[in-house]
Formats: sequence, C-alpha cells, structure tokens
Amino acid sequence: MSKEKGFVTEITPQSEDFSRWYIDVIKKAELMDYSPVRGCIVFRPEGYELWENIQRDLDRRFKETGHRNAYFPLFIPESFFQKEKEHVEGFNPELPWVTEAAGEKLEERLAIRPTSETMFGHMYAKWIQSYRDLPLLINQWANVVRWEKRTLPFLRTSEFLWQEGHTAHETEEEARQETMQMLQVYTDFVEDFLAIPVIKGEKTPSERFAGAVDTYSIEAMMKDGRAVQAGTSHYLGTKFAVAFDIKFLDRENTLQFAHTTSWGVSTRLIGALIMVHGDDRGLALPPKVAPTQVIMIPIGPPKTRDAVVGRVDELYSELKKAGVRVRVDDRSDVSPGWKFNEYEMRGVPLRLELGPRDMENGVVVLVSRITGEKRIVQQADLVAEVQKMLDETHAEMYNRAKSFRENNSRSVDTLDEMKGFLEEQRGFVEAGWCGSEACEKQVKEETGATSRNIPFNPSTHKSNCLVCGDKAKHTVVFARAY
Ligand code: AMP
Repeated sequence: MSKEKGFVTEITPQSEDFSRWYIDVIKKAELMDYSPVRGCIVFRPEGYELWENIQRDLDRRFKETGHRNAYFPLFIPESFFQKEKEHVEGFNPELPWVTEAAGEKLEERLAIRPTSETMFGHMYAKWIQSYRDLPLLINQWANVVRWEKRTLPFLRTSEFLWQEGHTAHETEEEARQETMQMLQVYTDFVEDFLAIPVIKGEKTPSERFAGAVDTYSIEAMMKDGRAVQAGTSHYLGTKFAVAFDIKFLDRENTLQFAHTTSWGVSTRLIGALIMVHGDDRGLALPPKVAPTQVIMIPIGPPKTRDAVVGRVDELYSELKKAGVRVRVDDRSDVSPGWKFNEYEMRGVPLRLELGPRDMENGVVVLVSRITGEKRIVQQADLVAEVQKMLDETHAEMYNRAKSFRENNSRSVDTLDEMKGFLEEQRGFVEAGWCGSEACEKQVKEETGATSRNIPFNPSTHKSNCLVCGDKAKHTVVFARAY
C-alpha cells in the first residue's frame, strides 16, 4: 500500500461508522483534543481558528445591526436563579457550583454561568429607567458551562464558547422584531459563510428555552441524516423583566416592564460544519471559514527546485496581498503526493501546484478539494481565478448540502409511515401535529426523533396529526438530533 493510501484509510469511512469517522477526522486534523476534565475539550489552533473566523464575521453582522459587545462575570449568585421559576427548573440539573474559595465557604453559592439572562437582567434593571434608555442591544462573547450527561466534541460539551445577545425593548412588537432579525442574521451567516442550508422555524413548547415565551431555531442536516440545532433566538416577553424588575417610564410617563430577547450560537457550529461537509478523505472546509484557503505546493526535481520555490513565493505574495488566506508547503522531506492527501484531509479548499513545465508556460494548476477538478490558469490571472474558484466552491458545497437534505427528507401522514422511512434511512420528516405534548412524546418514544421546529416554510402544509389523526395545528420537522 502506498504511503498516501495508508494515510487516508486511517479515517473510518462514514458509511461504516459515522461517529468514529467524526472523531477520527477531528483528531487527525488536529482541531481538538480531549481534556482531563469530562466533557471539556481543548481547541487546538486549527480548531480555534475556525472559531475566530466565525466570530469575526458574526461580530461584524451584530455590529451592523446595532449591537455592542460587553463582558459580564462568569459567576452568578444562586439567588439570581431563584427569581425566574422556569429558568431555574430548566438549568438547575446542569449547573456547577462554587461553594468555597480561598479556603472559606462562601455565604452564597455561585453558579458558573450556563447562560446570562439573570446577570443581564440584574444589570439592565440598574441601567434602564426611561424609554430613552431603550432599546439596549448588548452581546457578549464568552464561555459557558452546562454539565451535560452525554457529550460529543464541539456539538455538545460541558464548557463551550459562544456569543449571547441580550436586548431590552419598549414594546412586544419591537422585541419580536429583534428576535426575528437575529434569527435571520444567523440564517444568513450559516448559509453564506458556512455553506450550510438551514430550516428556520419555531420550537414547540416542550423544546423551548427555559424561561422563554417563544424560541426560534435554525436546524441543519448532518451527513448521517441527523439534525443539529445551529442557533436559537428567544422572545422572553416580560418574564425576566418582572423577575429582575427591569422597568422604564414610557412616553406617557407610566412605568412599564421591558420586553427582552436573547439569542446565541456556539462552537457547536464547528461540529456541524464538519458533519455537513466532511467526507471519507477528511475535512472539507467552506472557503470563507477555512483557516487556509489555498495551499501552494511546489513540485518537480531538485535541480529546478529553487526556481520553482522562488516563483511560488512571488505568487504567494500576490495572493496574500489580495486577502486570500494562503500558505506554502515547500518541505522537501515529504513527497507532493503525501502533501496532497494531508491538505485534503485538513479540508483546504484549493491546492495550487507549480512545477517547472508550468513555470515555462506561465501557468499554475488549481485543484478543488470538493470536486477534484483541475484547472490550468494563467499566472497573470491568478488572483481572479482563485477568487472565482473559491466562490464556486462555496456555492457547490452549499448546493450539495441542500440536495443531500432534500434527498433525505420525507413528508409523511402517519407515524407508521415515519417509522418505515426512518428504518430505511436517517433524515428529516415533515408531518402534521395536533399540538398535544402526548403526541409529540409518542413520536419520540417510538422513533427516537424529536420535533426540530415548526418551519416557517414547510414543503407542504399537513392537515392531520401523524399520531392521533386529529386536525393538525402545525406542520413540524422531526429528526433524530445531536
Ligand atoms: P440555548 O441557550 O439553549 O438556546 O443555546 C444557545 C446555543 O448554544 C444554541 O445554538 C445551542 O445549539 C448551543 N448549545 C446548547 N448547549 C450546547 C452544548 N452543550 N455545547 C455546545 N453548544 C450548545
């Protein structure tokens, strides 16, 4: 077996064991490592840089929509959690507590934040007095802890990185608009930056955020047909305002409770990215998020090496100047073939090869990680050709993910039909639902699938509940989920 082949076959094929494939890929591509603390991972530079790129682009979108960043403390006093009943019930089982510090028992236990509605609520009550203080639009980038029973790197960890937006408004209408605006910001970001198509919709009451009036989500399909909740946006009504006394004098000089929202995405997006686009050769990164967009590999015999490397360096500078994230691998102790496999495994969207013959002809070879297509392009047109191919790669990745989702989705009328579909394959099921929790629960018990959301744009509007046959209130997307 060649060195190249041996390298690639270390990754378990997706069809054999998707979970093993996932772990093989993220470890081999050096995105993460397990830490000694259960459920907590180390983000290695290759993985952390994905998060930095996500952060940068999202942060820009938040600022464009009028939000500013701030930082709130990691510790939250226990009494804060007692103030909003549903919130505490939802989060209590997952909270880690600090009870002692510097050898002394604390007077009040401190939770390590699982989310910061309570801390924002406490501060907003101090900062908001009049309608002139509204809207208040703050985001924070932070780590949070939820002591999860079942963990999976990136997708569900006990400590994770995220952003949490918290806003306060004069009216319900305005707060609802904000909730929807942020869901749209997430949708645009996940589709335009990560090349992942999502289904936008409202969560059913049983899947709502603890303490929210309404929760909305975007849901994505992984390559094993399972769902990942890629982002959530909550309309909190006046629940947290009442609990924390966020009141303001309105335009008629009467005291009102503010309407608040919160919204978040996490490092779970990295897991989704890997599971949506990766294949048996390893990672496949959409160009906009890839730490390295183009890897340049000089090829040819030792006697032409210096000249080739010299030209590669010149082209490297041109690409870099144009803002392309580009790297050169000019190591001479590993073969070009080994490098090709290495960077394919790491998901680098484009490979640029330059050999002595290409030098003579004034061309380079560009190879796509996704389609394998090779393009011979003029060196003079390099920047434009690279940018074009990166754009095409993004579109191709998005379209593939979308067709995959379409091919693995089914609209059904009955629970039996749903079971039949899920026995044959994993995927998303669209079905009618009467609105009762009992029917939703039965679907979960009999199929393992949970309601993902009530899509804003279902492919069909179903008329009857898949379980009881009564009139359907909603059309729901069900799926097994991470
Ligand atoms: P939530 O505050 O529950 O609405 O979650 C906000 C965001 O964090 C959503 O996009 C969730 O999918 C994500 N999330 C929730 N729990 C975890 C976890 N344990 N690890 C990683 N991401 C998570």
